Amino acid sequence: MHAIPYGKQEITEKDIAAVTDALQGELLTQGPRITAFEEAFASYIGSQYAVAVSNGTAALHLSALALGVTSDKKVITTPITFAASANAVLYAGGQVDFCDINPQTYLLDLNRLEDMLKKDASQYQGVVPVDFAGYPVRTDELRQLCDRYGLWMLEDACHAPGGWFNDTFGKARQCGDGTFADLAIFSFHPVKHIAAGEGGMITTNSKALYDKLQMLRTHGITKSPELLQENHGGWYYEMQELGFNYRLTDIQAALGHSQLERAEENLEKRKKIAARYDAALKDVPDVATPFVAPGTGHAYHLYIIKTSQRKALYDFLREHQIFTQVHYIPVHLQPYYQQMGWKKGDFPNAEQYYEQCLSLPMYPSLTEEEQEYVIGKIKAFYEE
Ligand SMILES: *Cc1c(COP(=O)(O)O)cnc(C)c1O
Repeated sequence: MHAIPYGKQEITEKDIAAVTDALQGELLTQGPRITAFEEAFASYIGSQYAVAVSNGTAALHLSALALGVTSDKKVITTPITFAASANAVLYAGGQVDFCDINPQTYLLDLNRLEDMLKKDASQYQGVVPVDFAGYPVRTDELRQLCDRYGLWMLEDACHAPGGWFNDTFGKARQCGDGTFADLAIFSFHPVKHIAAGEGGMITTNSKALYDKLQMLRTHGITKSPELLQENHGGWYYEMQELGFNYRLTDIQAALGHSQLERAEENLEKRKKIAARYDAALKDVPDVATPFVAPGTGHAYHLYIIKTSQRKALYDFLREHQIFTQVHYIPVHLQPYYQQMGWKKGDFPNAEQYYEQCLSLPMYPSLTEEEQEYVIGKIKAFYEE
């Protein structure tokens, strides 16, 4: 068998044609393909607005700035995420704090968060929940906490385009749809659902935040007549904020948009792959398959099992050309964060999860034959 990674992109002839077309367009950046991609993405996710940026990390950084991160208060996130979820708060000059995970969903534990806030909410300004692996955060419940304690909410939905949950009224809510979070962010890194090479998107239902983000992504400069303080003529623009160059190119937008057209179909493929793993692995002793609550739509960016023999299984599969991965090493245990004062033992659920988790191959182009090979090897490992 050839090498099987844990995730990979799929590029079709249509994708290639879309990129070729963009290369022949008049504008390679800030052209019509950006707006078209933003509108299509907002419509897919169900938000009112979307702002395309150069990557998911830039999306987090600009979001933190737009939400007005200050240096005197902390922003809470989960230790089980990619480091960027926490780093962006530091970029914006804020302080980071963590809240341990729920051992069943692997998401930031809202009960523990409430305890932290009850103790002393005045230390905190915002929260960055992560729809980890594609499992939706209950942003409706989190919104209530945020409102009660005066926090803003920035949803890191990088893993979850197409994920959803039924809210307390039984209404289906899509991850990042702008109903409960102030802002949500997505990434178009090739291992994510939609590949653009590099790329990111911020979604929101707030016009004020949308205007601010558009300005921040291009140096803090605006040419919009309704936003200008003066107007000297057609050439005139104003730099009103200290922004960045976090623009996406039209070449990347063309690829992202073309991929977006297959997003629903690919999500269905991910669900089928997950269902096959669920069925095949549910009776393997020492393998825990992902929990999914009723009324929840998992987006399956990752398919994570837990096992007490994680390292041995990882090595065994690797010997057979199956390249699984671990998501994630808890952020608070990274040397940079340890040097800020965090240490082993601070977040026991996250640390215990890390000892046991393994992400199996999960991507839409994974064939049934490849998946059967993976399943066969996992079973062989436990039967030895
Ligand atoms: C990928 C990812 C990011 C960062 O996205 P980039 O596009 O790689 O910058 C942030 N948060 C999470 C949870 C991610 O998976």
